[in-house]
Formats: sequence, C-alpha cells, structure tokens
Amino acid sequence: MTAMLDGLNPAQREAVVHSGAPLLIVAGAGSGKTRVLTNRIAYLLGERGVHPGEILAITFTNKAAAEMRERVEALIGPRARMMWVSTFHSACVRILRREHEHLGLPSSFTIYDADDSRRLMTQVARDLDLDVKRHPPRGLLAAVSALKNELVDHESARDAAQSDREQLIAEVYGVYQNRLIAAKALDFDDLIMTTVNLFQAFPAVAESYRRRFRHVLVDEYQDTNHAQYVLVRELVGPADGELPPAELCVVGDADQSIYAFRGATIRNILEFEADYPNAKTILLEQNYRSTQTILTAANAVIEKNRGRKPKNLWTDSGAGERIIGYVADSEHDEAAFVANEVDRLTDEGLAKPGDVAVFYRTNAQSRAFEECFIRVGLPYRVVGGVRFYERKEVKDVLAYLRSLANPDDSVSLKRIINVPKRGIGDRAEAMLDALANRERISFGAAVDRADEAYGMAARSLNAVKGFAALMAGLREKVEDGAGPAEVLEAILERTGYLADLQESTDPQDESRAENLQELVAVAHEYESTEGNEGIDGFLERVALVADADQIPGEHEDGLITLMTLHTAKGLEFPVVFLTGLEEGVFPHTRALGNTQELEEERRLAYVGITRARQRLYFSRAVLRSAWGAPAYNPESRFVSEVPKDLVQWEREAPAPSSTAFGTQTPQLTASASKTRKTGFKSLGAFGREPISVAPGDRVIHDTYGLGTVVSVEGRTGEHATVDFGSEGVRKLVLAFAPLQKL
Ligand code: ATP
Ligand code: MG
Repeated sequence: MTAMLDGLNPAQREAVVHSGAPLLIVAGAGSGKTRVLTNRIAYLLGERGVHPGEILAITFTNKAAAEMRERVEALIGPRARMMWVSTFHSACVRILRREHEHLGLPSSFTIYDADDSRRLMTQVARDLDLDVKRHPPRGLLAAVSALKNELVDHESARDAAQSDREQLIAEVYGVYQNRLIAAKALDFDDLIMTTVNLFQAFPAVAESYRRRFRHVLVDEYQDTNHAQYVLVRELVGPADGELPPAELCVVGDADQSIYAFRGATIRNILEFEADYPNAKTILLEQNYRSTQTILTAANAVIEKNRGRKPKNLWTDSGAGERIIGYVADSEHDEAAFVANEVDRLTDEGLAKPGDVAVFYRTNAQSRAFEECFIRVGLPYRVVGGVRFYERKEVKDVLAYLRSLANPDDSVSLKRIINVPKRGIGDRAEAMLDALANRERISFGAAVDRADEAYGMAARSLNAVKGFAALMAGLREKVEDGAGPAEVLEAILERTGYLADLQESTDPQDESRAENLQELVAVAHEYESTEGNEGIDGFLERVALVADADQIPGEHEDGLITLMTLHTAKGLEFPVVFLTGLEEGVFPHTRALGNTQELEEERRLAYVGITRARQRLYFSRAVLRSAWGAPAYNPESRFVSEVPKDLVQWEREAPAPSSTAFGTQTPQLTASASKTRKTGFKSLGAFGREPISVAPGDRVIHDTYGLGTVVSVEGRTGEHATVDFGSEGVRKLVLAFAPLQKL
C-alpha cells in the first residue's frame, strides 16, 4: 500500500483514488476533507503520473496553501513546489499578470485592499456629492462588491436597476470602476471577475489554462461565491468540448458556510450535482478530530438550522471530558477565568499554552484577553486583529512603493502626497485634481505638471514640486534596478518618515518605527527567495497576505491563539474557549430577529465548537462594558441548545433576584483569589500608596486598558500622563487611579 493511502478509511481512500468524473466530498467538520484533498494530490503525483504543473489547488487562506504544499512535499518530495496551491485571489493575480496585455493593463497593476477600496469609494461619494450619513461608503462598497461577486458589471447593473437605491449604486459603481481603471488598479473582487471576463472574452486563453491544469481541487467549497464558482467552471471546461474537462474535486461542508455576507453561496454545494450531472459524491462520516461530547454538542446546535441535509458524524475516540461552562461577572473576569484555566491545564500537564485557542465573535473582544494575558504573563498572539499590513505606517510606506511601481495609482499617491506633512493641503490637492480632469491625465501626471494648475499659491506649488522631485529621485532608483528593500530604505530616509518617528516623544512612534524596520526586513527576506520578482512581486505578495492572513510571528509555537470565529475555519486546537456566549454578542445583535442571519451565526457556532479536539469551554460575561455603555446580556441561545448533561458549570449565573450586579465584590474577590498565583490582582484599590512609574512604562488601567506612560509630573511625581491609544491620552493622579504597572 502506498503512503498516500495509509491510515485512511475506505470512504477517504475512495475519494483519493477516484478518477474521471467531478468529485464532491461533503462532510462534517473534522472528517478529513482537507486531508483527503492533500493525499489526493500526492496520489495524483505519486501514483497516477500527473505532472505537478498540471495541478491547481485552491485553499481559503495563504497559510492553508502553504500547509498543504508542505504536506504534499512531505509525501512526494520537492517536485511538489511546481504545483499551484493558492487562494482564488493569488491564482487570479498570477493569471492576470501573465495575460495583462489582453486586458490593457500594465503587468504592474496595483491591487487595492479593503482599506484602499474604502478610500477610493469615499472620494467617489464626495465627488458625487452624496450624503455620507445616508450612504456610508462602506455600504456602497458592500453593494458594489455584491454585484461583482455576482459578475454583474456596472452597465448591466444600470440596466437592471429599479429602485432609487439600485440606480444610485449602479452610478456609484460606474464612477468607482472608472477610477480603478484610471488608477490601473483592481480591487479584490475584480481579481476574480476580471479573470472570468478574460476567459470568456478570449477562449484561446481559457483553453491554454485548461490544457495546463488537468486537475482542479478546491477546499472549503461552501464558501465560494458565484464569481468563483464560474471561474472554476471556466477552468474545468465543458463536458462536450474538444478537450476533455479537467478532473475536478471539491470538498466542503454546507454547515460551515460563514461568508454569506461576502457573497458565498451554499447553492454551489447544494446544487453541485445538478450542475455536474455525472458527478460522484462521497460522504465522510467519521470524525477524527473531536471527542464524542464535543461532536454531540456541535450536532445539537447545528440541528436547529432548517433546510439542511442531516449528517451522521461519529467518532470512536470516546466521550472525553465534559464541556466546562463559566459565567463571569465582566469581560475582565471572563479573561481571568481563561487565564486561570490555561494555568491549571499547564500545571497539571494537560495542555500547553500553544494548544489553546480563544475564540470570540468580534475583534474588539480581544482587548480584555490581551490585557489580562499581559498582566499575568501568558504568551499569546492575536490572529486577524489590526494586521501588520493594515497598520498606518506600513500602509503609508507601501503607498510610496506602490506609487513608484504604478504612477497612475491615485489612491496611493493621494495617501502620501502630504505624509509626512510637507505643506500640500486639500486645496492644492483639489487643484491638481482639477488639472488632471481638464487635461485628461492621471493625478500622478498632474503632480508632475503642477505648474499648469490654476490658482495654486506659490508655497503650495513649491511643495508639490518638491514632492515631484522626491518621487522622481526615487523612481530613478527603481529604474536603476534597486530591489524593494533598498527602495524602501530610500523612502524611509528621503521622506524623513523614519526620522520623524525616531525624534517623536510619542512612545507609540517607537513601535511604529519598529514596524517599518520589520517591513524592510520582510522585503529583504522576499529578495532572498528564489524567483523573486522585484518590487511588483513584493507588492503582490503583500497585497495578498493582507487579504486573509497575517504575517507569521517569530515564535508561533507556545503561544495562546486569540482569534475571531471567522478566522478559525479549517483549524483545530486541543483546547478551545468559546467566549462571549451572550445574546447580542454571539449571536451578533445584527442577527437577532433575522432567521437567515441567525442560521449563519449558528453555523459559526458549529465551526467554533468543532475546532476543539479534547477540551471545550463555554464562557460569557453577565456585564459587558467593552463598548462604552455596559450591557447585561442573557445567555446565548447556542449554549441552551447544547444538551444540559454535556456541560459542567464551574460557575453559574447569579440568581436573577440577586442584586449582585452593583455589588459584586464577593464574587470578584473569589475569582481574584483563585487567580492570585498567576499574579492577577484585583484592581481598583483607591487611595493606596501611589505607584511609581517612569516615562515609557507600560501600565494597565481599569477603564482605559493598556497604556504607556508619556511623562510624570508634580513635585513628587504624583501625576502621570498616559497614552491609552484609542482611549486617548490622559492625565492621572497616581494615588487614585486604578492603575497597575506591568
Ligand atoms: P474542517 O471541516 O474543519 O475543515 P476537515 O474535514 O478538513 O475539517 P481535516 O482537517 O482534514 O478535516 O482532519 C481533521 C483531523 O483528523 C486532522 O487532524 C487529520 O489529520 C485527522 N484525520 C483525518 N482523517 C484521518 C484518518 N483516517 N485517521 C486518522 N486521523 C485522521
Ligand atoms: Mg478542512
């Protein structure tokens, strides 16, 4: 027996060796879908004599792609590197860069991420004089994105528009699209839609990819949208064409479809058999991930959704531990509970911090956990918070690089024309815009011809000229063949960006400077990889990782993982904490009273529960104050849907008649004493000895959270000014502030 079939059950084996007709593998979480896909690729290469170049495998994140490639490589060796294993977006970028001439695009076209797209849409809304209160750019963008995911272009949208809103969207779409074209940029949705258009408009191009990719495999198929669905169909080719269709293998689980808001449609999975009449379907029913307790809980929750195919997921790994439940007083108490449990598991040798994942519904919820973990010294990483590539300083500097690679990219250019401040105000920018319109040139060209702008004050004109000269100098460097790292360094130096940060007294600027150094390091690393494609290639990589992944930390192992439920898809952890199980938090307020959205939230709960291998925790906070006004939320319905005997409550809600909410001291003390050994102390001790701090110290405040001491004032150092990031800079009296030094 070959290595690729070792240890697989009969249904899995059948899926691996199946050849010919399209194959759909539908199965619940943890049944080995991804493993089957990986082994199937290895089998194709190792046993069926398929060339690695003939394989196109699609995963949901770049990280998943890297993992799959690694695993195949482990099975069949370095030949695996020639396969295309990537996300839809990466695959499309690769295709578009090769075929750009057909589309009238430069090969160095820019990719706009969500933030760039929002900026562009904001400009469009402003130029169309829209009331942004009634039509927030975010909403406009979502509407345009939905149309693109349905492969509707703006002309068709206009023809089909009936309501005022639809007409408005169509108009906005048209203007937005023309701006993208002028900027020689594509947004994320365009990547897919443009590739589909390319294949449909140039059959010979489509044909060449069909000849190349004889095997198309798609993981997480339940989360493909219509555009991606059509793309797959185009790649596979018609059943009655000259060329036999490519072998298609898709795997997914309708119960894990959690991206409807991005246009994903379960229809793709439910109707696969109708779309591919000769398709073969294989069901996998044995779960290899979780204990029976965890599976029973997951099944009980998902059963409440209607219109789904019942599944028979089982495991032979035994009942395992009961789920542990905890009702916390506040989100801080909830975090302390998690920290305590991780400590206990570690002490008892039952798990290590690296085995643990903490899931929550929205990014904002990570704060309470981070604060607590920092305080007690638990190592953690946050996946999908403010990601590295979304930080302002990183985006600013990348905008320089992008403007150099593509001078027509107006969003990038406008982003940095006055960053760092160089005296080019909104008025000067508007005049350049007017010049661009008048002369029908790009904004970048207008910058170079600022002399021709009407009515620009001499000072502004000088500033613009200075900027144009700066960019020209940098461009020369690019033309001389400098790589991304060298150009980045030149940008940091010549613009004064780095110097500004280094001279600043704002402590956060120090970490900003570090991030920029990190970016240069990333560029160096990119340059040292094989087949690197200079600045364009670097920008492409950056744009795509920014989409769904984050830059891997240095010491990934041994850290607790904090992430939203949406980013947890496809992953597994020995220990999972499902937190914030409150009506209005999870399920999200938006979903309350909306059956469809509730069902999507329930699928998200199913995804969350099924990530756990051995131990699962449910927690909630009676009082949650994370969003300003405190909220008392009742228990999430998802908890009550789990059979009672599966959950062991370590702490239950105070009786409703209790007046505990205002005077919860006894409970707080109880949980604080439990946590004492980890160094967690009850905060809010007023009127004590003033703590002594110095500028640069990291502190934690009961209300404002994490902060950095900017300065210490008063004769005896009794006041301190502390920067709490988004909570502002505050002056505190040290004797009274509920503050602790970290
Ligand atoms: P999800 O729906 O969450 O994406 P999945 O169906 O893709 O899950 P996998 O991640 O492929 O499931 O597998 C779940 C776990 O079970 C993995 O740890 C995998 O290695 C293991 N596994 C899968 N099949 C087998 C098998 N036949 N024997 C032992 N372990 C298996
Ligand atoms: Mg999977």
